[in-house]
Amino acid sequence: SGGGVGSAGTRFDLDKETELRFEVEAGERVQLELLSGLAEVFGSELNRNKKYTFGPGSKIAVFTWQGCSLSLMGKTEVAYVSKETPMLLYLNAHAALEQMRRQAERDNERGPRVMVVGPTDVGKTTVCRLLLNYAVRLGRRPTLVELDVGQSSVSVPGTMSALCIERPADVEEGFSVQAPLVFHFGSTTPGTNIKLYNKLTSCLAEVFSQRCEVNRRASVGGCIINTCGWVKGSGYQALVHCASAFQVDVVLVLDQERLYNELKRDLPHFVRVVLLPKSGGVVERSKDCRRETRDEKIREYFYGFRGASFYPHAFDVRFSDVRIYKIGAPSIPDSCLPLGMSQDDTQLKLVPVSPGRDLTHHVLSVSCAEDEGDGPRSRGILESPVCGFIVVTAVDTQAQVMTVLSPAPRPLPRHTLLIMDIRFIDLK
Ligand code: ATP
Ligand code: MN
Repeated sequence: SGGGVGSAGTRFDLDKETELRFEVEAGERVQLELLSGLAEVFGSELNRNKKYTFGPGSKIAVFTWQGCSLSLMGKTEVAYVSKETPMLLYLNAHAALEQMRRQAERDNERGPRVMVVGPTDVGKTTVCRLLLNYAVRLGRRPTLVELDVGQSSVSVPGTMSALCIERPADVEEGFSVQAPLVFHFGSTTPGTNIKLYNKLTSCLAEVFSQRCEVNRRASVGGCIINTCGWVKGSGYQALVHCASAFQVDVVLVLDQERLYNELKRDLPHFVRVVLLPKSGGVVERSKDCRRETRDEKIREYFYGFRGASFYPHAFDVRFSDVRIYKIGAPSIPDSCLPLGMSQDDTQLKLVPVSPGRDLTHHVLSVSCAEDEGDGPRSRGILESPVCGFIVVTAVDTQAQVMTVLSPAPRPLPRHTLLIMDIRFIDLK
């Protein structure tokens, strides 16, 4: 029930187990305040009498287990209270996972490895955030594995990553991203290079397993794997591959019964596949909206949250000081492949890129691979994490230099650069 509280904002009194949903209009900002009771945003608790600001396009649900009063200030596209939420089912899923962690602790085994799947716009990312928040609030140290190359919650788009979660997500900013493990994929859809996508999934699984061997808390905490909304054909095969690479114990399928049945049929019998409804609050996002979110994510990488905290550097890099590669040669028909060569080889091949004007605005990953005197070892570079990203802002072919935007001052920490399909136009 909404009611005015003067110019201060609109007041909402929520019964227990209901949520206030709102969307922020383009170009607007909305302030949220918890006046009384207890409430959370996607599993992160709100502090009372603190004003939380949400930027344009934010789509938020404030849920309360006990009941609460909230105040909302600013222009919302919609704002309404809903009693129909699947939160109880999500909490039950969390409780089952926590049970598995307790058992792992007792029996000296590893905790649950969970894959969250479903078509686009069903709340996969939100459910991951919720489960991670609930786990870390109980003192667990779960790992977020981010395989959504289109909308990464950890790093810039076009990457695949893992992040150890040590505290609940910030209500406004999301999870604090310190020392994530990030791999270069290079494009916003797995279909661009499915071989590479599967290979990097395996790399992440391997690194995570190694960490679990030496870090008991990480092992017990387990992982929550966020995936892409592409659930057909090779996209589906990639999910099956992921389940096997990570040896997942639980798959949470959001919203789609067909996908649920396929996974039940194709995954080993000991994998628990669970169908969960999507929340009616999840908002569909257009192509444009997704592109804007991606852009924002890159801007955040260079300038910090809301453009206020970081000061990126611009400097020139000589062509002769770097080696730029693209991963994957253009695919050619099987019949044209040289004897003994497979499509895998072409998709995982490092192709040298000679710098030219068409490099302008491209995002480049700076590979952690050691610079080698005698040419690159392609295996090493593919499987090496990245230590950061730069954007090419200008190319001078005459002078053989390019100008780059970088989070750190010159020189570049490494000299092997991987080109992304993704471009970013710096409007600052
Ligand atoms: P994608 O296919 O793009 O990966 P997804 O399945 O991961 O999408 P989310 O990103 O979790 O879906 O949710 C889509 C949008 O809906 C997000 O902006 C999120 O903040 C919002 N949202 C999720 N749950 C709710 C809710 N209960 N009420 C209001 N908004 C919500
Ligand atoms: Mn998502």
